[in-house]
Amino acid sequence: MTTPHVRAVVDLGALARNVAVLKSRIGSPAVMAVVKAGGYGHGLVESGRAAIAGGAEWLATALLQEALALRASGIQVPILAWLYTADDQFAECISNDIDLAVNSVASLDAIADAAQSLNRTARVHIKVDTGLGRNGIMLADLPALLRALNVRAASGHVSVIGIMSHFAYADQPSNNTIAQQIDNFMKAVDLTEAAGFELEVKHLSNSAATLGLPQTYFNLVRPGVAIYGISPGGEVGAAHDHDLVPVMSLRSSIVLLKDVPAGTGLSYAHQYYTEVDTQVALIPAGYADGIPRAATNKGPVLIGGEIRTIAGRVCMDQFVLDVGGLDVALGDEVVLFGDPARGEPSVELWAEAADTISYEIITRIGPRVAREFINVPW
Ligand SMILES: *Cc1c(COP(=O)(O)O)cnc(C)c1O
Repeated sequence: MTTPHVRAVVDLGALARNVAVLKSRIGSPAVMAVVKAGGYGHGLVESGRAAIAGGAEWLATALLQEALALRASGIQVPILAWLYTADDQFAECISNDIDLAVNSVASLDAIADAAQSLNRTARVHIKVDTGLGRNGIMLADLPALLRALNVRAASGHVSVIGIMSHFAYADQPSNNTIAQQIDNFMKAVDLTEAAGFELEVKHLSNSAATLGLPQTYFNLVRPGVAIYGISPGGEVGAAHDHDLVPVMSLRSSIVLLKDVPAGTGLSYAHQYYTEVDTQVALIPAGYADGIPRAATNKGPVLIGGEIRTIAGRVCMDQFVLDVGGLDVALGDEVVLFGDPARGEPSVELWAEAADTISYEIITRIGPRVAREFINVPW
C-alpha cells in the first residue's frame, strides 16, 4: 500500500471526549454540536457520529445539503440548518425532519409553502440578530415575523421549536456588546413567548461562550471549534487550558533529501538562502492541500524530533525544509500540526504563521488530502 502524500489523521475518540468534557463543564444544558463545513474539515458524518457518542443531543450545519447528508447517513438526533438560498431544498429538509432557522417573513413563507405542499409541519427556530450584524431578523422586525408565524402555526405548516442568536465578540468576555446581546436575546424570547409560542430550546452560545460565559447557556449550547479541540482564540486561552485535545493532525513525509551548499536559494523567488552547507528535505504538501502560502518562511513543522520552519515559498504541491543537523531519512514522517502535548505544532501556531485564525486552517484542508479516522467510538 502506498502512503498518501498528505494525511489528515482524525481522532474521533478525542472528538467524543471533547464533547463529554464540555458537557460535564456546562451541567444540564444540552449540546448542539456544530459540524458545518464537513465537520470543520474533519469529516461531516464522522464528526457528527463522534459528537453524538460524546453526548451531543443535537447537531447543526450551516447548509441544508450537509444537514440532509447527516440524516441520510442514518443519524436520528434533531439537526438544525440555518443558511440557505431562496429556492433551497426546503421540502427535502421538512420531509427528513431537519429543523430550519427562519430569519425573515420571506424565508418563513418559502418554508411554510414547502410544508403546505407536502402536507407536513416544518420545525423552525427563530434566528434573531441581537447585535452580530449578520444573519437573523432585527428585533424591530420580530413582531411582524411573530404575526406571520402565528398564522402559519395555526394552519399547521410550522412549529416553532426554538430561538437562537449568535455573538459578535464572545471571545472577549469583557466586551460590552455581550451584555447588550444577552439583553436583546431575552427581549426576543419574551416577545416570542408573549405571542403564544412555547420554546423548547433557546440557544446563544458558540464555543467561546460555552467556555467562558455561563450566563449565556439557556438550555442548549452550540459549540463548533471547541469540539475539535481548538480554542476559538481571543481571551479564551489555549485548548489544553480547557482540557480539550486537538482532533486532527496533518502529516506528510520526506520525499527527497539532498545536500546543498551555503548560499543556495530555495523554492520560487529564492525567499530563503542557506547560510551554511546543509541538507534540505522536500515535503509534498502545498497550498492545493490547504497549506497557506502566507506561511512561506513561517510555517512550523515537526521533523526529526525538532520543529523547523518552512524554508522559502510554499508552492502548490510542495515546500522545502532546511534540515541541517537533523538525523532524518527519506520517507520519514513529518507533522505540520497536531497535539502540542506530543511536541507537534498546534493549529493555533499555524494560524499565527499565516496571519489568520485556526478555523481557516482546518476548514481549508484540500480535497486531495486523505482523511484517516482513528479511535472510532462506535
Ligand atoms: C459557526 C457557528 C457556531 C459555532 O461557532 P464556534 O465559534 O465554532 O463555536 C455557532 N452558531 C452559529 C450561528 C455559527 O455560524
